[in-house]
Amino acid sequence: MNWKDALLDIVKDSDSRIRFGELLAKHTYFGIGGEATAYIEISTVDELGALARFHRQWDVPVAIIGRGSNLLVSDTGFNGISVRLVGELAKLDVDGNTVSVGAGLSLPRLSKNMSRQGLSGVEFALGIPGSVGGALIMNAGAWGSSFGDVVTNVTVMTDTGELVNLTHAEAAFEYRHSGLDAYFCATGARLKLEPGDVDTITARMQTFYKQKIETQPFAEENAGCMFKNPSGDSAGRLIDISGLKGHRIGGAEVSRVHGNFILNIDNATAADVLDLIAYIQKQVREKTGISLQTEVKRLGFLD
Ligand SMILES: Cc1cc2nc3c(=O)[nH]c(=O)nc-3n(C[C@H](O)[C@H](O)[C@H](O)COP(=O)(O)OP(=O)(O)OC[C@H]3O[C@@H](n4cnc5c(N)ncnc54)[C@H](O)[C@@H]3O)c2cc1C
Repeated sequence: MNWKDALLDIVKDSDSRIRFGELLAKHTYFGIGGEATAYIEISTVDELGALARFHRQWDVPVAIIGRGSNLLVSDTGFNGISVRLVGELAKLDVDGNTVSVGAGLSLPRLSKNMSRQGLSGVEFALGIPGSVGGALIMNAGAWGSSFGDVVTNVTVMTDTGELVNLTHAEAAFEYRHSGLDAYFCATGARLKLEPGDVDTITARMQTFYKQKIETQPFAEENAGCMFKNPSGDSAGRLIDISGLKGHRIGGAEVSRVHGNFILNIDNATAADVLDLIAYIQKQVREKTGISLQTEVKRLGFLD
C-alpha cells in the first residue's frame, strides 16, 4: 500500500473530505500559494488520531491549517497533507459561563454566538477571520484583549494520537504566540466568560468591528498584520514613518490604509510578498534601527 491509499483508508467511511493536488490559494486569505499534495477536512477526533499515527508511520509532512488568515503559502505549494478541522472538531458547547469550543470553529462565529448568549470576553474577535485553533496558536487579539486571556484549558493531540488536557499556564500564551505549536494539533479549548447584558455585549462587539473596518483594509486579500508590534511601538507607525505605504513589488503592495498590512492587489506571488517583507524590514531598520519580526506564518518554504 502507498501512503495515499493509507490516507484514503482513514476517511473511507466518514464525512471527511479529501482532495489530492489541492490549490492552497483557495484556502488562504492572501489568495496565494501552490498545491498541497493532499488536502483533507477531518471531521472526527478518531480520524484525527488515525492521521497522527499515519503521520508517524509514513513520515509524510502534515500541516494543520485553520482559515488560512495568518498564512503565506509558497508558490510551489506544500509537499504534504494540509488538514482542516470540521464537524465534531468545530463544535460549541455552553454550560453557564463555561464554553467548550472545537479548534475548527470560526472565531467570528464564536464571538457572535457568545454575544447572543450574554457572555462577555470575546467581543474583540468578530473582526479576526481565523479559527479557534489559529487563535490558540497565535494568541490572536485586538483592542488590548487576547484569546488566551479567556482560555482556562486547551486540548491538544500528540503525534501518537493521544489527547492531552493543558492548563492555561501550560499553553504558554505570549504576545501573538503560544507553546501549542509543539503538538501535532490543538483540538479545542475551554473558555471562562463573564455573564452580562446581551445588548451591552453586542454593542461592544459591533463598536470594535466598526473601528476595525474603518482603520484596516478589508476589501483586498491580505493576511492581517504582517509584523509583530515591537515592544512599546506599532509596526504600522514605523512602516508609515519610513514612507512605505503604497510601496509595491510585483502584485503585492503595502496598504495605504494601514502600513502593517500587505495586500495582494494583482495576482501577487509568495515571492513578491517575501521581497516586499525584506524591503520593509531593511527600510525600517535603516530609518529607525528597529528590526521588525513577521507575525504571519509560512508554509511550504524550505527555511
Ligand atoms: C483581515 C484580517 C484581519 C486580521 N486581524 C487580526 C487581529 O486583529 N488580531 C490578530 O491577532 N490577528 C488578526 N488577523 C490574523 C489571523 O486572523 C489570526 O492570526 C488568526 O488567529 C489565524 O487563525 P487561522 O485559523 O486563520 O490560522 P491559519 O492562518 O490557518 O494558521 C496560522 C498558524 O496556526 C496553525 N494552526 C491553525 N490551526 C491549528 C490547529 N488547530 N492546531 C495546530 N496548529 C494550527 C497553522 O499551522 C499556522 O501555523 C487578521 C487576519 C486578516 C486576514
